[in-house]
Amino acid sequence: MRDVCIVGGGTAGLAASIFTARAGLDTLVIDGGESILARNASLENYPGFPDGVDARRYLQLTREQARNAGAEFELGRVTRAEPIDEDDLEAGFALETDGGEPLETRRVIAASWSDSDYLVPLDVGRIQRGSKHFVDTDDAGRTAVDGVYAAGRLADEPHQAIVAAGHGAKVGLAVIHDSDANFYHDWVVPEGYFTGRGREVPPGCEEIDDDERRARDGQARTRMLEAFAEPLDEVPTMHPSVEQD
Ligand SMILES: Cc1cc2nc3c(=O)[nH]c(=O)nc-3n(C[C@H](O)[C@H](O)[C@H](O)COP(=O)(O)OP(=O)(O)OC[C@H]3O[C@@H](n4cnc5c(N)ncnc54)[C@H](O)[C@@H]3O)c2cc1C
Repeated sequence: MRDVCIVGGGTAGLAASIFTARAGLDTLVIDGGESILARNASLENYPGFPDGVDARRYLQLTREQARNAGAEFELGRVTRAEPIDEDDLEAGFALETDGGEPLETRRVIAASWSDSDYLVPLDVGRIQRGSKHFVDTDDAGRTAVDGVYAAGRLADEPHQAIVAAGHGAKVGLAVIHDSDANFYHDWVVPEGYFTGRGREVPPGCEEIDDDERRARDGQARTRMLEAFAEPLDEVPTMHPSVEQD
C-alpha cells in the first residue's frame, strides 16, 4: 500500500509530490492526461523566471524534480475512489484506473483539475459552479473525509500556476503532518546552522558543508544550462473548441 497517491500530475500535484516524497512518504502520481498549463503560450508570472519560461518546459522540469525526490509515476485516469473499509478510513482507499490494476493508498490528494467524478463514492463535498465541480476543503486542503485532500484549482484556488503549485506544496505538508513522518521543515542549511548552536539537525532538514554546497550548485547549473540550451519542439495545446486547419 502506498502512503499517498496523488491524482493529477499537473502544477499542484507535482508540487505536492516533491514535498511528500522528500519527506520519505511512498508517493505515486497518477496522471491521465495533460496539465491545463500546457495550453499556455508563455509563462510570465511564475517567480524565478525574469523573462518567463516555456510552460511545457516548466512542467517537464518539475516532473523531473519530483522523480529526483523519489516520486513514482503511473499513466492512467482514475475512475473511482472508495474506502477499503467503510467503517475504518485508516485502512486506506482503493483507486480504480481506466487501464491498470486497482491501487491501494493510505491517503489521496486529488489534484485533478477539472475532474472529480471519481470522488463521488467518497462524498467529500463537491461544489458545482456552472459546468465545473470544485472540492470543498479546509485551509490545508483536507476534505470532509479523513485521508482525502484536494489541491490546486480543483480546491477552488485562483487559476494561476504559482498559486496551484504553492497550494500543492501546502497540501503535501498537511499530508506529511497527518502521517507518522518525523518532520520539522524541508530545509537545506549550511553546516553549523543548527549544530553550531548545540542543536540536533531537525527531521526533514539537512546541513551541508561548503564543498557539498558548491557541488550541488554545479550540478544544478549544468542541468539548467542543458535544459534551456534548445527551444522545445512542443507547441501549446489549443482549446478543444477552436477549429484548426
Ligand atoms: C490557456 C491557459 C493559459 C494559462 N496561462 C497561465 C499563465 O500565464 N500564468 C499562470 O499562472 N497560469 C496560467 N494558466 C492557469 C494554470 O495553468 C492553472 O491555474 C494551473 O495549471 C492549475 O494547476 P492544477 O494542478 O490545479 O491543474 P492542472 O495543472 O491542469 O493539473 C491537473 C492534472 O490532473 C490530471 N487529471 C485530471 N483528471 C484526472 C483523473 N481522473 N485521473 C488522473 N489524472 C487526472 C490532468 O491530466 C492534469 O495533468 C493558464 C491556463 C490556461 C487554460
